[in-house]
Amino acid sequence: MKTELLPEAGKGRVVALCGGVGGAKLALGLSRLVGADLSLVVNTGDDFEHLGLSISPDLDTVLYTLGGIANKELGWGRADESWNFMQALAHLGGEAWFQLGDRDLALHVERTHQLRAGRSLTDFMAGAARAHGITASILPMSDDPIRTTLTTSEGQLPFQRYFVERRCAPTVHGIAFEGASSARPSAPVVEALQAPDLRAVILCPSNPFLSIDPILATPGIRALLEQAAAPVIAVSPIIGGAAVKGPTAKIMAELGVPATSRAIAQHYEGLLDGLVIDDVDAGERGTIDGPVHVTPTLMKTDEDREHLAREVLRFADSLRTAMANPTRAVAR
Ligand code: GDP
Repeated sequence: MKTELLPEAGKGRVVALCGGVGGAKLALGLSRLVGADLSLVVNTGDDFEHLGLSISPDLDTVLYTLGGIANKELGWGRADESWNFMQALAHLGGEAWFQLGDRDLALHVERTHQLRAGRSLTDFMAGAARAHGITASILPMSDDPIRTTLTTSEGQLPFQRYFVERRCAPTVHGIAFEGASSARPSAPVVEALQAPDLRAVILCPSNPFLSIDPILATPGIRALLEQAAAPVIAVSPIIGGAAVKGPTAKIMAELGVPATSRAIAQHYEGLLDGLVIDDVDAGERGTIDGPVHVTPTLMKTDEDREHLAREVLRFADSLRTAMANPTRAVAR
């Protein structure tokens, strides 16, 4: 690789792979730093049809977070929400296990309508992002249906039945991504990962099994990451042996994997040029192969999100310099 072909440090396209809540926090920090230079490749394995509506929970979390209208009290859904629809639905004896706020409902109704009229999910989300003043690209990993299904102590469960209805209580024995083998990544995802000015590819601190693996299972995406001309960096979702939120550590235990950042690095083996871990796990640094950057990774405020995003980009830029060197120090 020739140095002069590389984008200038601090410039170029940033691609981040993410799921919902955890991923969206770093996505927001990145968007505040690089704006329209950011492409988010978002998990659609959680998508499902409910009450005849097409629902895309991770895409919508990213949309609401970057649009500044995420519900901070609930930790999901839209701010300034009302629940008249749910109350009326429950009154009729309808399915009330999946909460749909009134404002949120508008997004699902319009998406369902547009998809039925033949518009792609990618195109619909681009319009929704524009409507919310978002300059980053929010890209579904694929326009083809890929559905995460779990083999559990209660049998086969579609993702939302496991995650929302059963609140992640069943023991997970295995995870499959139905439809993945015949799916294709969307054209803008491929373009973003092949951008001549690619600066960094970031695996957000999302659940590796439920949010990042479905993206990597979309045919072609793993190979695009392996061939990426820019550093691929993951931020560990595990801090001090626990997940910040959600079932990541529980699933790791159930699958016989220790809840450590080392295990996260091993999970992404063959893909990473570097891993970002939290200060409290600094002692783990020596147990992880390859470059490790230690910094506070708990994102409570928007400033935390921006700070971590800045650290990740700086780390990526430093590794890119190493990649440009003929005696490339970083092995994948
Ligand atoms: P979901 O799709 O809504 O479950 O969200 P993600 O998969 O994107 O994120 C879930 C993961 O985010 C969990 O493993 C959490 O440990 C991780 N996470 C959430 N908040 C933070 C944070 O502030 N810092 C770090 N490092 N990880 C976080």
